[in-house]
Amino acid sequence: MSTDEIKVAIRDVPDFPKPGIIFKDITPVLQDPRLFRAAVDIFAGRCKAAGADAVAAIDARGFLFAGAVCDRLGLSLVPVRKKGKLPYKTYEESYELEYGSATLTVHRDAFRSKARVVVMDDLLATGGTAAATARLVERAGGQVAEIAFLVELAFLDGRKKLAPHPAFAAVVF
Ligand code: AMP
Repeated sequence: MSTDEIKVAIRDVPDFPKPGIIFKDITPVLQDPRLFRAAVDIFAGRCKAAGADAVAAIDARGFLFAGAVCDRLGLSLVPVRKKGKLPYKTYEESYELEYGSATLTVHRDAFRSKARVVVMDDLLATGGTAAATARLVERAGGQVAEIAFLVELAFLDGRKKLAPHPAFAAVVF
């Protein structure tokens, strides 16, 4: 299975969630068991190569891949969630969106000290979400081994915001 098969399955939805945005819809990849497994294979390969102990999964589409990967490899699964969703003591990091800002949180005891962590999400756009997640991982005592995405929108140059952490994307538009 080549990543081209995943790429062609990703659907463009114009003007969602607002005018001018072309939303990259990954639900056709989830719907097709062959494609979903291929995506999980790719993420699992990245985690193995990175020597990961844990996956920091970004709310909400990162959860879909991280659960499968952590089950397969026996890794610790840590949800990074929008503010107000995690019940225990948290760290918070805010970042700028096109209009306004957003806040992500992680539980303070999410990682054992120096755990090697792969940050996982479906898509890299401007990079603010993943950069805030990397900061959360470090504040909670983990080390960011890699930031892994299914899709990268390279024209938005989000990778720049992730330095010095290594970033990987299976499919690039
Ligand atoms: P960013 O912080 O700009 O890198 O945005 C990344 C987050 O927003 C990810 O969790 C994506 O799921 C979502 N996202 C941003 N832009 C798009 C897009 N064009 N299509 C699909 N998801 C997007």
